[in-house]
Amino acid sequence: ANMKTNGSLGTTTKAKPVNIGEIVEKARDAFNRGITKPIEWRRRQLKNLLRMYEENYNVMVEVLQKDLRRSKTEAVLLEVDYLINDLKNTLHYLDEWVKPEHPPKTFVNMLDEVVIYNDPYGLVLIIGAWNYPLQLLLLPMAGAIAAGNAVIIKPSELATACARFVADTLPKYLDNDAILVLEGGPEETTELLTHKFDYIFYTGGTNVGRIVYSAATKNLTPVTLELGGKSPTYIDNTVDIEVTTKRILWGKFINVGQTCIAPDYILCTKEVQDKFVECAKKILREWYGEDPQKSPDLCRIINSRHFSRLQSLIDASKDKIAIGGRSDPQDRYISPTIITNVTPADKIMEDEIFGPILPIVPVENAYEAIKFINAREKPLVLYVFTNNDDVRRSITDNTSSGGMCINDTMMLMGVDTLPFGGVGNSGLGAYHGKASFDTFTHKKSCLVKNFAAIGEKLASGRYPPYTEGKLSF
Ligand code: NAD
Repeated sequence: ANMKTNGSLGTTTKAKPVNIGEIVEKARDAFNRGITKPIEWRRRQLKNLLRMYEENYNVMVEVLQKDLRRSKTEAVLLEVDYLINDLKNTLHYLDEWVKPEHPPKTFVNMLDEVVIYNDPYGLVLIIGAWNYPLQLLLLPMAGAIAAGNAVIIKPSELATACARFVADTLPKYLDNDAILVLEGGPEETTELLTHKFDYIFYTGGTNVGRIVYSAATKNLTPVTLELGGKSPTYIDNTVDIEVTTKRILWGKFINVGQTCIAPDYILCTKEVQDKFVECAKKILREWYGEDPQKSPDLCRIINSRHFSRLQSLIDASKDKIAIGGRSDPQDRYISPTIITNVTPADKIMEDEIFGPILPIVPVENAYEAIKFINAREKPLVLYVFTNNDDVRRSITDNTSSGGMCINDTMMLMGVDTLPFGGVGNSGLGAYHGKASFDTFTHKKSCLVKNFAAIGEKLASGRYPPYTEGKLSF
């Protein structure tokens, strides 16, 4: 009932046909003309962006509700306020970040200047994903603008209302020559990638990540790839199981599991598994009521393709369902589902789940958990719940993942001094806070040599003829 639409918002009209080459050229030309470099321009754009967020606060909540049936709390917490806070932080530190750095000098360069300039790369392409359709597109965009680049952003075509909102609204607030929105799906993106960019920032699945990476190699374009994968969660028997269960269920069922850093599966002993399931039953009832489909706080699956994919995972685990397992294709609803006694051979352990299904794989101890994790691709985040320092240290030292969060889920995203990104199959590069600025900045090293006579005399031994003793090594 509260899915109000406004003008063209939420319609599924196809993007207007556009000449992609012209758009790329326009943005490139804006960078070449130097309009994006002055700090005043960057600051003005970022302030206008902030104004856009503030003036369209409720519209942003509405389009998220339209695409994912997001509750207002989740929309605000994970996207709108998140974007606003990041932007305020960027505006606060911008002058400091852009300043050239002066690294330490040795005696040899006493009379010289040694500088690192923070140069923009040039023209940046940002490709967004559908699961956090505003945040994953506009957060990196703000970083690219702060760093002085021209930007083309490509929203995910699957989050239709959000893509349309961005395409309609952004041009009303930001520079129409240097910051451009291009709507489209794989076809348009494929064409887009034939053009030359100075930086490409992609968020989405690993397979398309490979396509983007390989397109980038043609021009040796640097990339950030924010990918996904199965983020494991280890629980030992030293923790408060009620708080642990709450924190895990929250991270899993927010956006109904369509979160790149959702805890994908749990590793724990059978005893912990039993306690977890018992606790989870109680908590899920408290949160979503007897019939979670009626709860206003659970999102829906983005489209019917993803719905069928998740349905087939539930069907394949029918006899192992401890909680949930219900679904409604018309409503693209899947109930919060927990599957127990899962083995590595089960279908649910093949790919990233990206939905509200939480499998538990019993293991004997932390050592077995480490072996399990290391036998698979490097995850985006590794979650560990323990009060045992040895367990914590042992898992931290003996595994590799994009990031780690101990005794909570998701919350590492809220720390803007922690760069966020994957490693190996979960991605390449990182952003958030200053890391966003650095991602879109080329560190240009520069030595400014002096012409002082004494300096020239001292260094004259470098010129031929290389007679013995001219340089004293
Ligand atoms: P998606 O379907 O929105 O695709 C991502 C982008 O790639 C879209 O803009 C889409 O248009 C484009 N695309 C699709 N096919 C293409 C092709 N053949 N060539 C060029 N471009 C193409 O999103 P998705 O991939 O379904 O997203 C889900 C995945 O993203 C999950 O694996 C998730 O873990 C990952 N993810 C990672 C992060 C992160 O920050 N690391 C955040 C969100 C999602």
